Amino acid sequence: MVDRINASVGRRRADRVAFAFERHKPFESILAGRQVVSVDARGKAVLVFFDAAEDDAGWCVYSHNQLYGQWRTGQAHTEPKTNRQLRFAIYAGAKAARLYSASDIRVLPTDSLGEVDYLARLGPDPLNRPSDRKRLAPQLDDPRFAGRNLGGLLLDQGFIAGIGNYLRSEILHAARLHPTRKPRALAISERSVFIDVVLRLLDRAYKYRGMTNDPLRAERLKQDGVRFGARRYAVFARAGLPCYACHTPVVKTTVASRRLYYCPTCQPVPTR
Ligand SMILES: [Zn+2]
Repeated sequence: MVDRINASVGRRRADRVAFAFERHKPFESILAGRQVVSVDARGKAVLVFFDAAEDDAGWCVYSHNQLYGQWRTGQAHTEPKTNRQLRFAIYAGAKAARLYSASDIRVLPTDSLGEVDYLARLGPDPLNRPSDRKRLAPQLDDPRFAGRNLGGLLLDQGFIAGIGNYLRSEILHAARLHPTRKPRALAISERSVFIDVVLRLLDRAYKYRGMTNDPLRAERLKQDGVRFGARRYAVFARAGLPCYACHTPVVKTTVASRRLYYCPTCQPVPTR
């Protein structure tokens, strides 16, 4: 999504910027004419950076989509047909990036981003910040996380940023870990497998647009006429279907109020 926004308005001069909320209106004239320096993702937040002006530092538009916000990119002169509320838009030449429905939008000086609670609490973000990859192992030893269940931890953006609900099930299955396993009880080999799997599946989900099933397996399924939704995951949303690794029926459960899928054979209940 952020790649698409960057391709559309990144490194371009914003001819016009529009906000829906009254509190942001003064920024329409402040940001118009500035260059969009970059568009970045941090966890599930999107940051649009505008460059500094003659007598004014750079600004950032922070937005968090929650579960309903949606970015669309397209032509500047044609408004997309939608019933959604347009909340923020950047028009640059023939292109535009438009944010619909999101309610958590803030405009702040670039150097004040640390004041946004969501960003301050974010854990390592290995997909968006490659230098964060080496910060995963220390998280497993952090007293805030070491004694908690991985099933809950994987949705905690302070533990690892950017993991959504389907990735949680896919990571635990690929790492062969039951959701009640705790970081402090992992064997050394399980720790390194877990970290490798987190990095591998984040990269895979990005590369294949949300697909985390083994790419070769998914390709075979595609040849057999299996639709995207049914070949997308190894375990998520496959309750009752046979595990690809061992043919045991996949089990659906609820952890931290969200649905979680696992294989009781590949991911045995911990004995200690
Ligand atoms: Zn299995």
